[in-house]
Amino acid sequence: MQNFLHDMGLFREQCLINGAWRGADSGKVLRVDNPADGSLLGQAPDCGAAETRQAVEAAQAAFPAWKARTPQERGALLRAWGQAIEDNLEDLARLLTLEEGKPLAEARGEIRQGASYFPWYAEEIRRCAGEVTPVFRAGVQALTRREPVGVAAAITPWNFPMSMLPRKVAPALAAGCTMVVKPASATPYSALALAELAQRVGLPAGVLNVLTGGARAIGGEITANPLVRKLSFTGSTAVGKELAAQCGPTLKRLSMELGGNAPFIVFADADLERAVPTALACKFRNAGQTCICANRFLVERSAYEAFAQGLLAKVRALRVGNGLDPHTDMGPLINADAVAHTDALVRDALDKGAQLLAGGKPHSLGGNFYEPTLLTGLTPQMRIFREEIFGPVAALMPFDAEEEAVALANDTEYGLASYVCTNNMPRIWRLFRDLQYGMAGVNDAALAAAETPFGGTKNSGLGREGGREGLLEYMETRYLLLGGLEG
Ligand code: NAP
Repeated sequence: MQNFLHDMGLFREQCLINGAWRGADSGKVLRVDNPADGSLLGQAPDCGAAETRQAVEAAQAAFPAWKARTPQERGALLRAWGQAIEDNLEDLARLLTLEEGKPLAEARGEIRQGASYFPWYAEEIRRCAGEVTPVFRAGVQALTRREPVGVAAAITPWNFPMSMLPRKVAPALAAGCTMVVKPASATPYSALALAELAQRVGLPAGVLNVLTGGARAIGGEITANPLVRKLSFTGSTAVGKELAAQCGPTLKRLSMELGGNAPFIVFADADLERAVPTALACKFRNAGQTCICANRFLVERSAYEAFAQGLLAKVRALRVGNGLDPHTDMGPLINADAVAHTDALVRDALDKGAQLLAGGKPHSLGGNFYEPTLLTGLTPQMRIFREEIFGPVAALMPFDAEEEAVALANDTEYGLASYVCTNNMPRIWRLFRDLQYGMAGVNDAALAAAETPFGGTKNSGLGREGGREGLLEYMETRYLLLGGLEG
């Protein structure tokens, strides 16, 4: 493909280590395909442990000078980087759609949200003060100050490559950490384009290093290297647990943004005119490949039929196609495995008695496209009730009482996002108390924002990204005791 971006300088097929663009030591590369048509988009270096070590050492060398800059100085660079992302929105959106498949409008939204973390954390670090503790003994005074943890590593997934990275990098760099980042192999170009923009605005060498390549080799070095003081991972629960275990011997701080199994609970008192489009966006955004996608729709029996019919009309109207086409509402899944996984969950549900209202099979467009699917008659015995779908399948089940809905919602190992559609205020408070989830959206499903703490409980992870909490994940609290002050 020739000149598919206005500025082809944003399309980087090399890694960034210590301010230099380069390939793998071995010269090996990974192939990166466009999920919409399977065509070769480009290649990326297949780096391993040796390059990772170099990147970690570069980050360690850059750490003292970066930490020594004032928050305002670091913040000014972060603001410039965020602005550069905004200024290159159209090219970045095209690149994101080409490597990930989502429609251009969604790509733009993701990039804008990613960019918003930079000004937010540029400001937030200026407010990140320590404390003077109330005197607890005569003649002493205690103080705390917050300091960056040191070299931080990030491993990110393919589904939101333009927002996951800023969500980690902006707070880490604002705090004064330096970073080593490994994006998903399916979508390396978003991270490399963001790194190119960081270079252009003058981020010093070694402050941000981006490596592509074998997950186990890079992850193995990141987790074993004692210079890395923090790992922030977003991805599947299985890999997150493996990485957490690998970090044990060097006892790193961990942030783990893992899988979800979100309940979407619709009460009969809800405004269905609002609940149906909210459900549609919550389920079918990014073709259902979102960790906070609704996974199980629990609908009060008296509203069940009306909600199902309302959602069915919207699901049938979804236009499936190449994300570059401005008329497309839903793009392809990321790869053939994702199509097979989605289809296996649908088959299992149908075998166990679910009814098919729409879709239910790979799309006639072929390749990685799957039909937007609506099932009713979901039961806890179906895999779809227990497992993260990560595909465009909405499954509905009825309930009769609020306590029953809460029990069904909590009947999962996960605890990331939950959604409730109701206009009953006391009920909202009860559910916020009783739903065992890190996040709850009431009559709204757009949870992620720079200002808010995103994250889960149970097997959905550790720590929070966004908001004040997102910054503290990259900071250590140090305590100073001043004695001999009796006089
Ligand atoms: P994944 O297979 O866990 O991969 C995520 C990242 O980890 C990729 O960069 C991958 O590299 C890397 N990786 C895989 N195995 C590794 C290993 N053994 N050691 C070190 N790194 C390893 O997950 P995914 O399929 O990309 O993403 C989907 C999952 O992410 C879903 O479960 C979803 O819920 C979750 N997710 C969670 C959030 C959240 O905020 N909670 C947000 C988005 C996604 P390669 O690409 O090179 O394999």
